Amino acid sequence: MLELKMYINGQWVESESGKTFAARNPATGEVIAHLPEGTREDARRAVAAANENKHRIAEMPVWERARLCERIAEVMEKRREELARILTLDQGKPYHTEAQFEVRKAAEGWRNAAEHIKWLETSFIPVEDPHKRVFTIRQPRGVYAIITPWNFPLNIPIEYLAPGLAAGNAIVWVPAPTTSAVAVKMVECLEEAEVPPGVVNLVTGPGPVVGDEIVAHPGTDAVGFTGSSATGEHIARRAAGKPLLLELGGNGPTIILEDADLERAVQVTAEGCFLNAGQICCATERILVHERVHEEVVQLLVSAAQKVRLGDPFDENTTMGPLNNEPTAQKMDRHLRDAQEKGATLLYGGRRAPEYGSDLFYQPTVVDKVPRDSALFQEESFGPVAPVTAASSDEELLRLANDNPLGLVSAVFTESARRAFYFAERLQTGIVNINDSTLYWELHLPFGGASGKRSGIGRLGGKYTLLEMTDLKTICWDIGG
Ligand code: NDP
Repeated sequence: MLELKMYINGQWVESESGKTFAARNPATGEVIAHLPEGTREDARRAVAAANENKHRIAEMPVWERARLCERIAEVMEKRREELARILTLDQGKPYHTEAQFEVRKAAEGWRNAAEHIKWLETSFIPVEDPHKRVFTIRQPRGVYAIITPWNFPLNIPIEYLAPGLAAGNAIVWVPAPTTSAVAVKMVECLEEAEVPPGVVNLVTGPGPVVGDEIVAHPGTDAVGFTGSSATGEHIARRAAGKPLLLELGGNGPTIILEDADLERAVQVTAEGCFLNAGQICCATERILVHERVHEEVVQLLVSAAQKVRLGDPFDENTTMGPLNNEPTAQKMDRHLRDAQEKGATLLYGGRRAPEYGSDLFYQPTVVDKVPRDSALFQEESFGPVAPVTAASSDEELLRLANDNPLGLVSAVFTESARRAFYFAERLQTGIVNINDSTLYWELHLPFGGASGKRSGIGRLGGKYTLLEMTDLKTICWDIGG
């Protein structure tokens, strides 16, 4: 059992209220740690610390900030087994197939920021006035409020923390309560790598309390958030006027055309549905299939679901652990019930699997004939489900894909370049993957939601995050003469 603390102004501290909350292993329900239940006052202390110390990172030369990010990567690599272990205990994802990978990617995220900040060039702009010389520089925004979810408790925070620090921002970070133990462990790595005290502050506790405080507080200059659309939109209102980087939900439409390599298409699509038990913003959440290959696709999906191994996340044979929390499991229950009431056919799975250790295990599920007015079709399910809907033409498949309030990542499987472009140019998502699942992404590629949808604002990834997390300043110099 771990007794963990928050990190404010370079000190490990209790909540000023003295209250704590328990972190539980979702695979067993056992308590693994106690953490401080932060209050608004704790959040205000963290914001004050970030403001007092922001000069330490803003004034640090760029190459030194890059070295700092490199050092953090080295510490995380050195502590990778411990980090992967606490990640599995806290989040529930399989240790061998997923947690170790997440830790590797986490270290890479710090290295990625270290590289990109060095090459972030700005422009020298020609002007009409012959006496002026005009150029731009990029500067840190100041103090960032960062709120992150529980599905990738290392990788998602690093998408903000690494470029945020590399760009010279101070940070106040509120992680999701159900994965705050692993957040503490990452901040230990930052401390070990000698991030200056007060530059990164960690406040644990309920999002609507400590998260709300840091978002709305006048002492934070900008906000980064990954999570649900509803909370993201609420945060945008609370943060009114501040620069926002919001990565919200997705509904991963995946179009499988009759000319596709079906075996490969279904194999990677099933991974898109079941990896991390479906708890991924870019998970495959709707499979829109040409009716000529509908039967074959459905059969292949069922056999892919049969191969998933639920079980103890520390067992080498396990490929899927439990869901992280009860509200997410309840959402799966609700979506599956609603889809069946509206006419969908359950082909495989479809219920919780407490026989594996806790009520949060959920069977990999395949549902066919999912109607467009069902919650399973319209909302983000965030569980291990492959929902199939068939249609008879490219136009109808496109209409189905775009008939959704979310627009993060889509995928198209076809051997025809013409049809691939037909979809790529018309799909209303920020990213379109052709002949790979909605999961494909690399750390330096721009990632984010399409305008007009509820999937977020701005772009994460490599230099694109740095552009979001810096102010562009224009310097106009009259040289006389
Ligand atoms: P939320 O978006 O509500 O929560 C994400 C984070 O925001 C949590 O740390 C939460 O804290 C915090 N938060 C909640 N309310 C506020 C607030 N008013 N001000 C500041 N921070 C706040 O998602 P949930 O965890 O409730 O999950 C619900 C659904 O959201 C999932 O089933 C999934 O569909 C979607 N989701 C999407 C993610 C993505 O990557 N796109 C990630 C996570 C969830 P607390 O838990 O204390 O409320």
